[in-house]
Amino acid sequence: MATQVKKKRAAKAGPTPMMAQYLALKESVPDCLLFYRMGDFFELFFDDARQAAATLDIALTARGEHDGEPIPMCGVPAHSHEAYLARLIKAGHRVAIADQTETPEQAKKRAGSKALVGRAIIRVVTAGTLTEETLLDAKSENWLVAVAETGGALGIAAADISTGRFTLAMAEPAMLDAELARLSAAELIVPEGFANAPDDAQICPKTDFSSIGAEKLLKSLFGVATLDGFGEFDRAELAAAGGLLAYLETAGQGDLPFLQPPRRHRTGDHMLIDAATRESLELTQAAGGGRKGSLLGCIDQSVTGAGARLLAADLSAPLTSTAAIEARLDLVQLFEADAARRDDLRAALKALPDIGRALGRLVAGRGTPRDLGLLRDGLGAARDLHTSLSRIEAPPALLTELLPALTGHGALTDHLSRALVPSPPIDIAKGGYIAEGYDAALDDLRETAGAGRKAIAGLEARYRETTGISSLKIKHNNVLGYHIEVPSRHADALMSADSGFTHRQTLAGVVRFNAPDLHDEAQRVMQAGAHALAAEAAHLEELIETALADKDRLAATADALARLDVAAALAEQAALCGWTRPRLAGHPCFQVEGGRHPVVERAVEQQGERFVANDCRLSPEERLWIVTGPNMGGKSTFLRQNALIAVLAQAGSYVPAAAAELGIVDKLFSRVGASDNLARGRSTFMVEMVETAAILAQATENSLVILDEVGRGTSTYDGLAIAWAVVEAVHDVNRCRCLFATHYHELTRLAERLDALSLHHVRAREWKGDLVLLHELAEGPADRSYGLAVAKLAGLPSETVARAKSVLAKLEAGRASTGGLAAGLDDLPLFSADVAQEEDRADPLREALEAIHADDLSPREALDLVYRLKRLADEGDAA
Ligand code: ADP
Repeated sequence: MATQVKKKRAAKAGPTPMMAQYLALKESVPDCLLFYRMGDFFELFFDDARQAAATLDIALTARGEHDGEPIPMCGVPAHSHEAYLARLIKAGHRVAIADQTETPEQAKKRAGSKALVGRAIIRVVTAGTLTEETLLDAKSENWLVAVAETGGALGIAAADISTGRFTLAMAEPAMLDAELARLSAAELIVPEGFANAPDDAQICPKTDFSSIGAEKLLKSLFGVATLDGFGEFDRAELAAAGGLLAYLETAGQGDLPFLQPPRRHRTGDHMLIDAATRESLELTQAAGGGRKGSLLGCIDQSVTGAGARLLAADLSAPLTSTAAIEARLDLVQLFEADAARRDDLRAALKALPDIGRALGRLVAGRGTPRDLGLLRDGLGAARDLHTSLSRIEAPPALLTELLPALTGHGALTDHLSRALVPSPPIDIAKGGYIAEGYDAALDDLRETAGAGRKAIAGLEARYRETTGISSLKIKHNNVLGYHIEVPSRHADALMSADSGFTHRQTLAGVVRFNAPDLHDEAQRVMQAGAHALAAEAAHLEELIETALADKDRLAATADALARLDVAAALAEQAALCGWTRPRLAGHPCFQVEGGRHPVVERAVEQQGERFVANDCRLSPEERLWIVTGPNMGGKSTFLRQNALIAVLAQAGSYVPAAAAELGIVDKLFSRVGASDNLARGRSTFMVEMVETAAILAQATENSLVILDEVGRGTSTYDGLAIAWAVVEAVHDVNRCRCLFATHYHELTRLAERLDALSLHHVRAREWKGDLVLLHELAEGPADRSYGLAVAKLAGLPSETVARAKSVLAKLEAGRASTGGLAAGLDDLPLFSADVAQEEDRADPLREALEAIHADDLSPREALDLVYRLKRLADEGDAA
C-alpha cells in the first residue's frame, strides 16, 4: 500500500530526472532506437524496447513508471553491444547511441551526491554509416547514396565511409533505377518532396541539398580553392553531395567520417545495366539473395576483402572504353601466363590486412591500436610487393601506374614498427600496446609498476611468515584494489588493533585486510600504472595523427592492392577454368566460340555431367538470333552465358569460351518471360511489358539484348502477337544485337522477311521413346516442340501423356487446314509502316462534315452542300 502511494506521487511529480534526460535525448532522434548508457549496459525504453526485444529476441522487462504506467525496458551489455547493433541495423532500424559523458565521480564532484551523470548522443548508426568490422561484410561495399534534382537533372552522390570512397554521378531520370541498382545502396537519402522516391528512402530536409553550400564544404574539407582538380561537377551532383554530407554530419554528431576526394562516375564510361537485368542475370546476387549462386560468387578467387569488394564493383559496372578494358586485361594476362608469379602474389596478398577499412575506422575516431598495427603490417607487405613486382620486365601500363602507390610509406611504417608491440590489442583500457624502448619515460613507469608488483608478491611471503597463516593471499579487485585475504577461521588473529592489519571486508568464508606496507606498494603500482596508461594514450593519439596526415595516399595504396588482387584472382579463375582473353572489336559484333555459362557449368559438373559449349555469332548482318527448342533444352542458359561473357569481358576479365571477339556493349538488357518471375507479386505480365518497353525505348545499335520467352505471360494469341511485334521492333528500329528464345514456333516465319534475323534451335532427340536433350545449338528452326516428351520426362502420368497425344493430333490436323496460329501474318504490312499510314490518312469527308454549322445554312446552301459531300465521297472511293 505504502509503495503504491509513493508511486502515485512520483507520477504526479513528473518524470524522474533520469527519465527527463532520456526523453529529451529521445526527442532529438525520434526516428532512431535510442541506446541509453547505464553503467555496463545500453538500455532501451518504451516502444524502442518493445521493438528491440522483438528483433533481438531478448527479455522485455519494466522499470519505474511514466504517466502512471510501467516503463517497458530491455538492455544489452555495453561490451558486446556491437553484435546487437548489427542485428538491429540489418532489420532496418536506425540506432542513436547516448553515452555517459562523465564518470559518476565526476558528476558527484560537479553537482553533489545525487547528481545525474551527463549523457549525450555520440553517434547515430544507420546501415549506410557503418565502419565497425563486426557490422560490415568484408566482401561488400557499403554505400550511402543521396539523390538530388536541380533543373530536371538528377545528381547522385555515393560514399562508402568504411573506406572513404566517394563518387558523384549524373543520371537521366529514366536511368536512376539502373544507377541505384549498380550501387546496391545500404541506405538511400532524398530531399523532401522528391518525386518517385523509393519506399525505403530516408527523407531529409530540402535545405541540406544545397549545391552552393556543398561546394564550399567540399573545398574546405579537401583544402582546395577549386574543385576542378577532381573533375567538373554539375549543380545536381553538388546538391546530392550536400545532402550526403549533411546526413553524415548528423550521424557523426558534427564529425565527418573519412572521405576521399570525390571521383566522377560518368555513366557513359560504363555499360548500362538496369535493375531487372541485374536481377535476371544474377551478377552479384543470386535470385534467392546472397552471393552464392551469383556470377560473382562463382568466379571470385580474390584473397582479400578489398579485392572482393572491387571485383563486385567491377562486375556491377563493366567499362565501355576499349583502352581501359585492355589495360585491365593486360594485367590479368601477366598473372595468367605465369603461375608461379601469380601464386607468390596471391600468397602475399592473402596475409594482408584490410588497410582500407582500418583507415576508415581511424578517421572516424573509432580506431584502435590494432588498426595501427594493421596499417603497419599492410604497408610493410605492400613495400615488399613493390620490390618483387618492380622486377617484372616490360610491365603492362596498369602495373606501372599502380606500383608507385605501393611504396612511399617507409617513414610511417618504421615509426609504427618502433612504436607498437607485434600484435596490438583492440582494447586500450589495459594499455600494453606501445613497444618497449619507444619512450624511456614510459619504460621507467612500467619498471616502477613492475617493481611494485614484485614487491607485493614479496609481501605475501612475508605476511605468511609473520602471521603463520599459509593460506594468506594478496589479491586485487576493482573495488578494494590490492588487499590481504585469509579464511574466516584465521581472521581473529589479524583483527586485533596491534596486528598491523586493518579490516576491510567480511565475506562468507573469507575476511579481507589492508596493511601499511601493502598500501604503499599498491599506491606506487597504481600511480605508475596510471601514468603509463596516460603516456600510452598520448602516444596513440599522436601516432594516429601521424598516420592520418597521409590518409589519401594510404587509401591509394589500399586501392592499388585491391586492383592487384582482382587481376590475380581473375587470372587464377581463367587458369583454373580454361578461360580465354576476349578480343575487342571496333564494330558491333559478338562472336563467341565454345561459350559456357560459369554458374550452370559448375552445377552440371557437380552432378557428374558435362557442360556443352556453344557458339554465338552476331554481326551487323546477322544481329538477331531466334532460338527455339524444347523446354529444358538449354535456351535460357545459352542466352545468359552470352550476356555474362559481355559483362566479364568489359569488366576486364577473361571469358568462359574457346575464343571471343566482341564490339563494346553500351547497354545490356535481359528479360525473362513473366511466368518465371512469379515471386514478385505484381501483375507479372504487366511487369514483363513495362520492362520490355524500356528496352525498345533505350536499346541502341551497340546494345546487347536477351529476351527469354517474352510474351509467355499472357494468352497464346496475345503472347505471340507481342513477341512478333517485339522481334520486328528490335530488328528494324533498335537494330541491336539480340538473342530471342521462344516457344512460339510461329516466329520462325519472320526469318523469311527480316534479313538480319536467323533461326537456331537447341537439339533434342527421341531415342527409344525417350527424349534426350543435347543442349547443343544448331542452325534452323526446331522441327517440333517435344512438349509431350518433356512432359513425360518430367513424370506426367503415362495416361495423361497418351491423352495429350491424341488432343495434339487433332489440333495439328486443324492447324494444317487453317494455316496455324500465325496464319495470315505473312501478309501483314510491317507494323511501323502500318501505324504511319493510319496517322497520315486524311479524311476530307469527315473534315467537311465537322466544318458544317447546320443552323446557319439556308435551304439552298444545304442542297449545294449535299452535292459537295457526295462528290468528296466519290473521290475518296476512287483513291
Ligand atoms: P530452357 O531455357 O531451354 O528451358 P535451360 O537453359 O533452363 O533450358 O536449361 C535447363 C537445364 O539444362 C539447366 O538447368 C542445365 O542443367 C541443363 N543445361 C542447359 N544448358 C546446358 C549445356 N550447354 N550443357 C549441359 N547442360 C545444360
